[in-house]
Amino acid sequence: MDQLEVAVCLFDSKDRTLLWNETFLQFFPEHAGHVYAGENYRENLRRFYLRRLSEDELPRMERYIEEGMHRHRHQQRAFEFDHYDYRVRVASLSLGAFGRIRLWRKTAPLLTGMQDRISPKQVPPPKQMSADTVMALESLADGILVVDEQSRAVWANHAFLVLYGLLGIESLNTRMFDDIYAATWGNKLPTTDFVTGLSVLKERQRFSGAPYVLALPHDRWVRVVELRGTQANGFSYFSHVDITDSRRQQEELRQLTMRLESLAVKDVLTSLVNRRRFDEVMDLERHKVLRSESTLSLLMLDVDHFKRLNDTFGHPFGDEVLKCFATLLAHCVQRSGSLVARYGGEEFAVLLPNTDLTGAAQLAEFIRQQVENMVLGNEQTKLVRITVSIGAACVSGAELLLSSSRLIDMADKALYEAKEKGRNRVAIANN
Ligand code: GH3
Ligand code: MG
Ligand code: MG
Repeated sequence: MDQLEVAVCLFDSKDRTLLWNETFLQFFPEHAGHVYAGENYRENLRRFYLRRLSEDELPRMERYIEEGMHRHRHQQRAFEFDHYDYRVRVASLSLGAFGRIRLWRKTAPLLTGMQDRISPKQVPPPKQMSADTVMALESLADGILVVDEQSRAVWANHAFLVLYGLLGIESLNTRMFDDIYAATWGNKLPTTDFVTGLSVLKERQRFSGAPYVLALPHDRWVRVVELRGTQANGFSYFSHVDITDSRRQQEELRQLTMRLESLAVKDVLTSLVNRRRFDEVMDLERHKVLRSESTLSLLMLDVDHFKRLNDTFGHPFGDEVLKCFATLLAHCVQRSGSLVARYGGEEFAVLLPNTDLTGAAQLAEFIRQQVENMVLGNEQTKLVRITVSIGAACVSGAELLLSSSRLIDMADKALYEAKEKGRNRVAIANN
């Protein structure tokens, strides 16, 4: 998340800070060394305001904090504020019962920047447009282009000229919008965005109606809405809205959501899928088997005497061993469609669709041997070896009809048997 240059802070449902990233501390250096897991967001706001409020504003700080808390809990839309040398945009996303995530991003003040550079000369509006209409259109933040019946631009408001970087608009009268659009790209190399934009425009000239989105240079975007054939004077109005910020925010949220989703199904220590994902896939596979003639096999694996290993070499070393074990396991199970999961603690599960009991037992024995041969250890621990006990089971659809948890129960029982018989072995469930 630091690579996205988005500051992130995660809160639980009681407004307590759970997690934050490095970018958060860079954006808000006042929190570095102060924020801690479990800290109420109120304290975060207090530090923020202490740093920013002038002496005569300080008496109002508690009120600002209360408002900040209210915003934090109820915020629906992103908003922007000035922060040091930047304009910062902040979005807050509810994670349901879990809490909230807040995201901050520095925004380049694009439009204001453009306005500084461009001060277009206005042309007098055509006489068919009333002074009231012109005044109303000039007061809008969105760009407005007015075209005649032949689609030739006859007038545009200031926001439109700024948006398309038009310095002088004397030539506006004779130009079609696709001309103006192409000119904003100037002699820049035609990018896919531009080519797509032009073809969208060509299409629209034939079938107008729904709003469409066009790419502008420097990764900016506009949404265009046409109001064609509605005016008595034959003019049509196009509104052009700069949607750059909302698009960027959507993209960031999409990336963050993807990341959060992957965190939700992955076990952090081993990078294998977690129990939750295993249960989901198990459910899907179960239904597949119920509908088909195939079989579904499962291996349940449990590292032997793992507690002893922790006690002897320490928990961190135990973690390292689990990582190595997981990597080896993933290597052993290559068949596509099969799933290797951390079931919990030092227990793992391998789900094998379309595999019979013989196949499952062979794979289990192969894994057992690989684990036995694996050499672990470091300077302190010297040479360390581990073993694993495995329970293998296989069911058909008809058997699953009897009980949905049957496969897990059988593999579990076999695993228990492997332990009972002395560990470091494979036991096969008999129906
Ligand atoms: P058995 O051969 O009967 O399976 O014995 P065992 O010691 O492996 O089984 P037991 O269930 O008594 O202990 C499992 C141990 O695994 C206890 C727990 O602290 C340890 N463990 C579970 N999860 C982790 C983990 O993520 N990291 C480390 N280092 N240890 C873990
Ligand atoms: Mg265990
Ligand atoms: Mg164990």
